[in-house]
Amino acid sequence: MDTKRRRAFTKKNLPEKTCCVCGRPFAWRKKWARDWPAVKYCSEKCRRTRTGIAPKG
Ligand SMILES: [Zn+2]
Repeated sequence: MDTKRRRAFTKKNLPEKTCCVCGRPFAWRKKWARDWPAVKYCSEKCRRTRTGIAPKG
């Protein structure tokens, strides 16, 4: 009855950064493995918010 979502890759010593837009800390993600040094935003949403005016609607 193990309902925990256990994965082989646990978030122990993952590096963290602070989002330039929302100011929230976010942890390293595999998809950022290549571009981690250049990552400044926690999500695509924040990234777009920063780089341009988000269209309404
Ligand atoms: Zn953010």
